[in-house]
Amino acid sequence: MTRSQLIFEDSYARAVPELSLSWQAAEVPDPHLLVFNDDLARELGADPDLLRKDLALLSGQPRPGVRTVAQAYAGHQFGSYSPRLGDGRALLLGEVIDPAGDRHDLHLKGSGRTPFARGGDGKAAVGPMLREYLMGEAMHALGIPTTRGLSVVSTGESIYRERMLPGAILCRVAASHLRVGTFQYAAAQGEIKVMRALADYAIARHYPQATQAKSPYLGLLENVVAVQAQLLASWMLVGFVHGVMNTDNMTISGQTIDYGPCAFIDSYHPATVFSSIDHAGRYALGNQPAAAQWNLARLGEALLPLVDEDLNAAVEAATEILLGFAPRYREALSAGMAAKVGLGQPAPELTDDLLQLLSEEKVDYTGFFRALAAGTAREHFTQPEAFDRWNQRRLVLLAGDEPTEAMNRINPVYVPRNHRVEEALEAATAGDLAPFHRLLEALTHPYVERPDFQDLAEPPPAGAAPHVTYCGT
Ligand code: AMP
Ligand code: MG
Repeated sequence: MTRSQLIFEDSYARAVPELSLSWQAAEVPDPHLLVFNDDLARELGADPDLLRKDLALLSGQPRPGVRTVAQAYAGHQFGSYSPRLGDGRALLLGEVIDPAGDRHDLHLKGSGRTPFARGGDGKAAVGPMLREYLMGEAMHALGIPTTRGLSVVSTGESIYRERMLPGAILCRVAASHLRVGTFQYAAAQGEIKVMRALADYAIARHYPQATQAKSPYLGLLENVVAVQAQLLASWMLVGFVHGVMNTDNMTISGQTIDYGPCAFIDSYHPATVFSSIDHAGRYALGNQPAAAQWNLARLGEALLPLVDEDLNAAVEAATEILLGFAPRYREALSAGMAAKVGLGQPAPELTDDLLQLLSEEKVDYTGFFRALAAGTAREHFTQPEAFDRWNQRRLVLLAGDEPTEAMNRINPVYVPRNHRVEEALEAATAGDLAPFHRLLEALTHPYVERPDFQDLAEPPPAGAAPHVTYCGT
């Protein structure tokens, strides 16, 4: 059997042994590679031709001596605290150091039940694992920090999700799998030693500069606040709705993680919700920044005992840092929105008014910005006069030619349109991967318009039922 030459380290399992359990993947009856990420393999320093053949590794059967672990974490799910979530159907294969010296987690999803599985079967279906792969690659190509799929392997098993579906294992690569929920879990152990070990590990791995701060733990919080403010702005700029922003699904690294019920918007409206279980709209498009801020407050709470022995002083210091989220977010959003309409300087009133216009007329969000650069945007409005008035204000600020090329470099033609994603995943589930690979190809080069991919740029037909995503992945 082919073996790849990846060397695995287990710095996390060693640094905080209290926060993971040694565990092994279930056996896989008949593994077949569905998709493999050559570029990512190269980035990791692996030979893609060797690694893609190492189905044993990619399906959770690494060579003897490699210790795989299930990570423990807690989390607020839709606001309710669960003290023990953890990797119920996932395993950390280990950490790989890339040629640039950066450390990455290799992690399996769908590799069988672990002691954290609760009622779950520990498995995952082909559709949702390909979906996570596709969404991650789309986000990566859009320049948004994200975990990425290295491979999806079908297992040869059938699993039950309201119907029988083919099973699969995703191997994903992340800067780490430290989550806000990891800190909540550590804090709940009530041993400051564990909390300190975790925080020190996170600082060393992600934010070594935080050791320069007056309190390294406040420095850690400040860095996470900063990367999450950036991340949330980048989601909003492309119209990405994560759908399940529970504290266990928010990383310390600032990467997007856990593509369950997520979806991209077609037309812009802050109340947009796709997930069938998000009845109250907690994670609606426009609530995402507030949800992120709420999650960061939970991280702040967990860190309090490390910040100061005097609880009041600790709360005061952490609060001050948390208050930095909103201005950082607004700054990143304004700058990004300005760039989308071709401006070099933030013009928050102008871009806020645009979003209002777009939501009133239900204009296709992604399509609008390309049309604006092409000079055809007014055709997207039933009452173009309001758009004309808005565009006049923009043209005054532009004071020159339409910066078409610069706009087209940052406004994608292709985002994962829900109806196209569903089509591709349905076909893949039935055994035809061609639509998936075609969509992946378009999403990997989102700014390059191609006549043969025209259908992938278009919104769903008018009158199509609103898209609904499901958590049962
Ligand atoms: P998620 O909604 O995917 O972020 O998962 C929330 C929690 O449920 C995590 O602890 C997962 O490990 C666990 N989980 C989700 N699906 C399964 C499954 N099929 N089997 C076991 N645990 C699961
Ligand atoms: Mg999760």
